[in-house]
Amino acid sequence: MPDFGYTITKDRQLDHDHGDFRYISLVRSFEPSLDLCIGCGSCSASCSAAGFTDFNIRKLHTIIRRGEVESVKTELKKCMFCGKCQLVCPRGVNLRNLIMAMNRAIELLG
Ligand code: SF4
Ligand code: SF4
Repeated sequence: MPDFGYTITKDRQLDHDHGDFRYISLVRSFEPSLDLCIGCGSCSASCSAAGFTDFNIRKLHTIIRRGEVESVKTELKKCMFCGKCQLVCPRGVNLRNLIMAMNRAIELLG
């Protein structure tokens, strides 16, 4: 195939046959404010850990909704629990508790 200088982006359609949705159900029951999120990205923009790593809290709650749990497990370790993200959230999502809920769900489900 000729090299056009760009690649085709990987398909990001939701695959409900392969995602693990047990985690998001549990996280939602621990922290229902997750559903108030409008995806504005303010949490990521203010995140302390994002200043030092490639951590993206907004992406994290998107991928757990997609059932892509393996990436969540790796990413969660980068959070410093400082709570800055929660202070700037315009929807009042309890992000610090949400991160703890994700850790708890991983502890319970493996
Ligand atoms: S700041 Fe709040 S509403 Fe905006 S993406 Fe983060 S959690 Fe969602
Ligand atoms: S609590 Fe975690 S996700 Fe929120 S700003 Fe601090 S390091 Fe970032």
